[in-house]
Amino acid sequence: MDKNQIKITVLGAGISGLATAFWLNKDGFDITVLELKNEPGGSMVTRREDGFLIDYGPNSGLETTPLIGQIVEEVGLKGQIIYAQDKANKRYILRNNQLHALPTNPLAFFKTKLFSPKAKLRLLAEPFFGKSKEGYYQSVSEFVKRRLGQEFLDYAINPFVAGVFAGNPDNLSVKSAFPKLYRLEELYGGLFKGLILGARERKKRAEQSKQSARMFSFKDGMQIFPKAIARKLEPNIQYNSNVEKVVKLETNYKLVYRQMDESKEMVTDIVLSTVPAFHAASIFDDRENKLSNHLNQIYYPPVKVLFLGFQKEFVGQPLDGFGFLIPAKEKKSFLGAIWSSTIFPFRADEDLVAFTLFIGGARSPELFDNAGDSLVSSVIEQFKKIMHIHKDPIFISEKMWFKAIPQYRLGYIEQERYFDRFEMNNPGIFLSGNYRGGVSVGDCIKNSELTYKKICSHVNNMPAVNLLK
Ligand SMILES: Cc1cc2nc3c(=O)[nH]c(=O)nc-3n(C[C@H](O)[C@H](O)[C@H](O)COP(=O)(O)OP(=O)(O)OC[C@H]3O[C@@H](n4cnc5c(N)ncnc54)[C@H](O)[C@@H]3O)c2cc1C
Repeated sequence: MDKNQIKITVLGAGISGLATAFWLNKDGFDITVLELKNEPGGSMVTRREDGFLIDYGPNSGLETTPLIGQIVEEVGLKGQIIYAQDKANKRYILRNNQLHALPTNPLAFFKTKLFSPKAKLRLLAEPFFGKSKEGYYQSVSEFVKRRLGQEFLDYAINPFVAGVFAGNPDNLSVKSAFPKLYRLEELYGGLFKGLILGARERKKRAEQSKQSARMFSFKDGMQIFPKAIARKLEPNIQYNSNVEKVVKLETNYKLVYRQMDESKEMVTDIVLSTVPAFHAASIFDDRENKLSNHLNQIYYPPVKVLFLGFQKEFVGQPLDGFGFLIPAKEKKSFLGAIWSSTIFPFRADEDLVAFTLFIGGARSPELFDNAGDSLVSSVIEQFKKIMHIHKDPIFISEKMWFKAIPQYRLGYIEQERYFDRFEMNNPGIFLSGNYRGGVSVGDCIKNSELTYKKICSHVNNMPAVNLLK
């Protein structure tokens, strides 16, 4: 059978669905993408308002795989891609109401006031600590506290986890949320040792570590990326299409979906779901509710994104970095702020500056209970104090993500194993998206290659083509 006779339906036009559809389409499969909303991108949402360019979802991605450059080129965005300015490498952490640059070299590490002398000594002892017996069932906090000490957990990892997952390190599984960190200990017996030896391995595979990968966006913001991929796939994308059910037939699947007010059906050989876990939970035919129970175990905390524009002349804090993160111990009402117009050009007019703040997450979801307007005004006041800004913002805009980013919590391994089993028992169904294999844009694109290959091997072991030119 030729590939163009195999019908694959992709559910969801976020970056996971689109990137996989892109490879499958390029390889000649018959693709249809069904998307609930009236535009592509999912979590990638960019808007232009009053002269500001606002990314309400990811503000940037890390170029951790050459596949990103490959897609960018093939969808015609090479002239649009921009990389973070060098000064954005500097990241700040708030401690005692002051911003401290995160040290990036040994001298800066010894000089910084972010960590006490005791914490610095404790960090140096890392290679002398052995493995834990807890394996899969270790939280990020337990792992970091054991290897690097409590203060490093509080003032480096706790805010870092807020920056990546809007998460709480006490509940996240180190193995599932930070598999590379876990692997360093497993393979090499320690983090410092593993970092050095791991760098050699990546060099061989031509991959970039998250620390050294370049941070990218686009002149017109992140959503231009899924939009350009979607254009390449047209006319095979249907928007405003809410997939309600996937029903197993003898040799293939029936999809029931609602387009506007009309109920529709379609038969397909393969279903690739990339919709969020809580949506997937109600879609699949699953008599014992096992799949839906596992999918519903995945927690997506609420996050509010607050975008602020100020006149540059009133900002006292030098804007020489990426932004800052706030450790839970500092007891503020937000997780941190990205200095959007410092990192990338074209975010605000010349005399203005733009910031993106994040509120809530798994660390403080309760903030939204009866919050009203006072939460945002209190966050703005706290932000102004930290940044030495003496005037109110001239522009405020916000977006609430009621279910923002999936958390790979303790016990996630059970879900991971069940998803594998489900795919094995239901040949032709593939579960993907940011609740499997990493939440970052880079991870979603890396996973698109794995999913593409999985689908090829399912189809009578059809050879996958080499995706990289
Ligand atoms: C506020 C925020 C900030 C972030 N910041 C960063 C960052 O700076 N860097 C980074 O790398 N990552 C960041 N991320 C994470 C990253 O953006 C996401 O993990 C990634 O974009 C998810 O892509 P996805 O395709 O897996 O899922 P999604 O983007 O969620 O796409 C799923 C799609 O499925 C559709 N859908 C849902 N139900 C149905 C249905 N029944 N039928 C049809 N379609 C359906 C949805 O409408 C959606 O378009 C951020 C995420 C958020 C929310």
